[in-house]
Amino acid sequence: MNSAHLCSICRSPLGKKMFQDFWGNRFCIDHQYYLDQCTSCGRLICEALTEGGFRYPDGLIMCSLCDRRGIFSVERAEILLKDMRYELKLNGLDLGEAEVPIRLVDRNELFRRSRRSSNEGHLLLGLTRGMLSSIKDKVVDKRFMEILIQRGLPDEQFKLVAIHELCHAWIFYRGIHHLSLKIEEGLCVLSEYLWLERQKMPEAEFWKQQLLENPDLIYGDGFRQALQCLQLMPLPRMMRYIEENKKFPGFLAKLLFV
Ligand SMILES: [Zn+2]
Ligand SMILES: [Zn+2]
Ligand SMILES: [Zn+2]
Repeated sequence: MNSAHLCSICRSPLGKKMFQDFWGNRFCIDHQYYLDQCTSCGRLICEALTEGGFRYPDGLIMCSLCDRRGIFSVERAEILLKDMRYELKLNGLDLGEAEVPIRLVDRNELFRRSRRSSNEGHLLLGLTRGMLSSIKDKVVDKRFMEILIQRGLPDEQFKLVAIHELCHAWIFYRGIHHLSLKIEEGLCVLSEYLWLERQKMPEAEFWKQQLLENPDLIYGDGFRQALQCLQLMPLPRMMRYIEENKKFPGFLAKLLFV
């Protein structure tokens, strides 16, 4: 029998009940119920598809293909972060000389700092920390603290998380405070998307599709709204509009806001 008709995992003939993943692997539908999925590439973790994989003590699940490219050292993280500051600048958002320290952390610390529970729809892989004191909506003191990123992410995914967090940093340094979560996260996901559009690696298409189809009301809807606004005006102008109006520009803004 032609191998195209065999399951890529157990090699038994594929019936009607089969599944094809983003990477073109076709397998019996049942395998997805008991095999773990790689946090980064979404492949089912097994010998045949990914040469196995790892579950880190912090709960992160990574296939062997992705794990080989994992970022574990701060030195390497800092180099990649610098690349991503440049990429954010290509998106039209320049951090200039602003200081953005980075730390690689495990899941426990990430969750502890984020004040979010682990069962929310969005996968928590990075976090931006700043200190803001305000009295009656007026900011009286602020200090940018750091970016935290999950330790061990493969390089390309690290970059994706990094540009998202750098966009939060840009918004903070720019002094745009008290944005709704949907607008701020939507803009940061948009920065990820604009970077992905310039990338050639196969993961880029996979991640773009995930962003476009994300059902989350904040990260998914916020991003899709921001992407629509890009039809009206480029990102730096959109940022100025949001800074003044604390909302996404509508169609009229294109005519009135210069
Ligand atoms: Zn099978
Ligand atoms: Zn993987
Ligand atoms: Zn975010």
